[in-house]
Amino acid sequence: MGENYPMGIGTNWSRHHEYRASVLHRPDTVDELQHLVAAAPNIRALGSRHSFNDIADAAQLVTLEALEPAIEIDAESETVSFSAGVRYGELGRALQRGGWALRNLASLPHISVAGAIATGTHGSGDRNGTLSRAVAGLEFVTATGELLSVSPVDDDFDGSVVSLGALGILSRVTLDIEPTFEVRQDVYNGLHWTDLLERFDSITSRGYSVSVFTTWVGDTVGAVWLKSRLDSSKPPQSLYGAAPAAVDQHPIAGVAAESTTAQAGVPGPWLDRLPHFRLEFTPSNGEELQSEYLVPRRHAVDAIRAIRALGDRIAPLLHVSELRTMAADSLWLSGAYETDAVGIHFTWHFAPAEVLPLLPVIEEALAPFDARPHWGKLFHSVRRDLYPRLPDFVELATRLDPQGKFRNEYLERHVF
Ligand SMILES: Cc1cc2nc3c(=O)[nH]c(=O)nc-3n(C[C@H](O)[C@H](O)[C@H](O)COP(=O)(O)OP(=O)(O)OC[C@H]3O[C@@H](n4cnc5c(N)ncnc54)[C@H](O)[C@@H]3O)c2cc1C
Repeated sequence: MGENYPMGIGTNWSRHHEYRASVLHRPDTVDELQHLVAAAPNIRALGSRHSFNDIADAAQLVTLEALEPAIEIDAESETVSFSAGVRYGELGRALQRGGWALRNLASLPHISVAGAIATGTHGSGDRNGTLSRAVAGLEFVTATGELLSVSPVDDDFDGSVVSLGALGILSRVTLDIEPTFEVRQDVYNGLHWTDLLERFDSITSRGYSVSVFTTWVGDTVGAVWLKSRLDSSKPPQSLYGAAPAAVDQHPIAGVAAESTTAQAGVPGPWLDRLPHFRLEFTPSNGEELQSEYLVPRRHAVDAIRAIRALGDRIAPLLHVSELRTMAADSLWLSGAYETDAVGIHFTWHFAPAEVLPLLPVIEEALAPFDARPHWGKLFHSVRRDLYPRLPDFVELATRLDPQGKFRNEYLERHVF
């Protein structure tokens, strides 16, 4: 059952965090998982290791990779249920085979669904919520080892989805699905900063999912990636003077586009266009760090201006930044809790000694705009006053886990 790792269990995807856990359990069944959790004094789930901080760590860790995926589609309720170790790529293939789709995806299909929804992971789109918003039901193993099911009709549901792993180990997840759809991706280069800032709403509403890539310096923004559903909208010939690229390109200027999903208007199924990166390309680790702040939509342009004013300090440490939008939700710890939001994301060079001291500077610049950090990326501090339901979350976690079996240093620092 349990496996010992005298050399350590390794690092997260970015190799910035070395897990301190002494053991990584790999149960084959939910029953085994229940026994493990009941017996362990301090244990947490490890997803696909894509978070950039110590959020997952604990004295003991458990991976659900060995559980049967058990992907079950319910056409009547338009939902899919599956084991919590499943990653988006695998789930997407199974859904597509059956003629179904998820509403949205993040940039990478290699991430586990349970880990993504625990941190409020998101893609883009004015009318698309975070990936957590697709959750239609959860089953998790509580501190006593018992199974608990939560659905949207339960009072605690909105506190249980973006859970930061503090309530228990998810064993099964149910997501809303819809009939499959096709998407085309068009990339526009040469948009001027003045146009982005003056027409921000118009630009982000031009596609089903829109990403703006920039390095903050210069007169032009960088690239705008427009993902359009074939069943609903057509991309424009030009985007305020920015021209569509004829060949595929990587979000980072100068990097070969072999890992990216097809662009230049070539239609394809949702799972091969909504992520920026292809499932077949397996980035097991990356020479990068990431940070992101979610700002209420009403502050988007002012917040972007504030970051642009720091452009000369940011650019030397940056691969690229990405601006994405998302619709409001009611999930207590979500970055989009009760507000449409804009994500201001930074893909940094792997230079922690320079990047980490810059984060408080960025957070100070964003302070007037009520920025909430992405829970799974690098940040300096969390403003607790921006989460009105945080006391309810602490009460829920304490009720389900009075001994603190699922707590860790990260949670003590930022939540409890
Ligand atoms: C290359 C790259 C691209 C990314 N792109 C995006 C993006 O487009 N949008 C975005 O928002 N984020 C993005 N992220 C961030 C990433 O989505 C989040 O950090 C996410 O939480 C990682 O999920 P994971 O499965 O790797 O979980 P881990 O990092 O392993 O764990 C994250 C949290 O989930 C908990 N968890 C995992 N499994 C379970 C379970 N079964 N039960 C209870 N808790 C569980 C862990 O305990 C931990 O608290 C990206 C990260 C990388 C490295």
